[in-house]
Amino acid sequence: MKILIVGTGYVGLVTGACFAEMGHHVICLDIDQNKIDQLKQGVIPIYEPGLEEIVKRNAKAGRLEFTIDYSYGVLSSSVCFIAVSTPPDEDGSADLSHVKAAAREIAKHMNGYKIIVNKSTVPVGTAIEVTKTMRAILGDNGSFDVVSNPEFLKEGDAVNDFMKPDRIIIGSDNPRAIAVMQELYSPFNLNHERILIMDLPSAEMTKYAANAMLASRISFMNEIAGLCEEVGADITKIRQGIASDKRIGHAFLYAGAGYGGSCFPKDVKAIKAMAHQKGYDSPLLDAIEQVNARQKEVIGKKLDAYFESLGGFEGKTIAIWGLSYKPGTDDMREAPSLTLIRFLLERGAHVRLYDPVAMSKAREMLKTSPQIQWSSDEFEAAKGADAIALMTEWKQFRFLDFDRVLSQMKGKAFFDGRNQYHPAKMAQNGFDYFSIGRKAKIHKESLSLV
Ligand code: NAD
Repeated sequence: MKILIVGTGYVGLVTGACFAEMGHHVICLDIDQNKIDQLKQGVIPIYEPGLEEIVKRNAKAGRLEFTIDYSYGVLSSSVCFIAVSTPPDEDGSADLSHVKAAAREIAKHMNGYKIIVNKSTVPVGTAIEVTKTMRAILGDNGSFDVVSNPEFLKEGDAVNDFMKPDRIIIGSDNPRAIAVMQELYSPFNLNHERILIMDLPSAEMTKYAANAMLASRISFMNEIAGLCEEVGADITKIRQGIASDKRIGHAFLYAGAGYGGSCFPKDVKAIKAMAHQKGYDSPLLDAIEQVNARQKEVIGKKLDAYFESLGGFEGKTIAIWGLSYKPGTDDMREAPSLTLIRFLLERGAHVRLYDPVAMSKAREMLKTSPQIQWSSDEFEAAKGADAIALMTEWKQFRFLDFDRVLSQMKGKAFFDGRNQYHPAKMAQNGFDYFSIGRKAKIHKESLSLV
């Protein structure tokens, strides 16, 4: 089958590469000339484990092409995926301008029946909007169906997720379109039935409900973690205690410095906006967001409390380990590290930053400042630092020579935003160690450490 993927970002490139790997002929299209030029030269513009190999192999075999030319892409394909960005608009709702721009361009080049697949995360009603947008150009000419096929891959493990999806959701009430989609996805459906067919609004809503649910688990644990610090309980033990209940399970129950990324923040905003537009009260959705906004400030507040008795942040240097919003990706969108860095810079601190893969994306997001130093590894970042804050739990930080780390530091404070280390061991190592929800509340009057 010949497929066009419009939008060659995290979702579009992975989708295109994985379909090509299964033998389909794929054209990946983007309006970003630079991105397409890079891809044509075999340079992968994002970090995603395993992706480079698949892209290169399929491009070499001629099954995966890259273009900025809508005419070429649409004329050559019978199925057109729209996988462009849907950032939040001013009121939090999903901005559909890129989706509609893609729909218009596809409509301009139609040459026979096509299936238009909304893979971007879009609010209920977008399939109808896409149809209207295309009809405004085509009039009564042109034959097409719009299908919803939300994507559930997670950055950092996107190729695996796409190759072995938990489910493939197809939203449509049109048998012809459903049959084509089933055939397209059949190579991913061999082991067991993964395809769920549903009406369009339900398919569109499922993606938002899934992300809001996952975000709610994180915010719930973060709220309980804050309470643990008040009452002297340990959130890691609470997690074990509740996760062993099969009805609750283990996934997505880690307390930390808050969630970020391109999806949870914007999708929670968008589902809230959907409720608001309908005049429907959604206090739980509001709370997910409020708790997360507070949580992204938690490490900054702990640092503030610690340094208050040591003369404040002036002349202090904080090393930050991990910048991307989670391990396994270079994605810096809404990363909690950015909240912390901005907080520290505003208060006059110097920061020494290190991330295994997100350094160049982080540089793009932070203005050049004499207060910022970029480091080549975690040890260099720790040199001369008064404190270290771990913000992304990259595996390489798990087992470190902490004697070496401490010997290079000026101070001895360690703020663990991802609960990666054992409090007693870190104390033995000589650190003033603080983490999330593990009895290490800092009282402004007297430091109480455990
Ligand atoms: P992205 O920003 O990485 O990529 C989007 C791409 O679309 C960019 O390369 C951009 O240049 C291109 N684009 C924008 N307008 C275009 C147009 N008119 N024509 C052609 N190309 C255009 O975004 P992403 O992270 O891949 O997300 C895409 C969609 O998938 C979003 O709706 C997102 O919510 C959803 N999604 C993302 C993830 C994820 O983990 N990133 C997971 C599931 C779903």
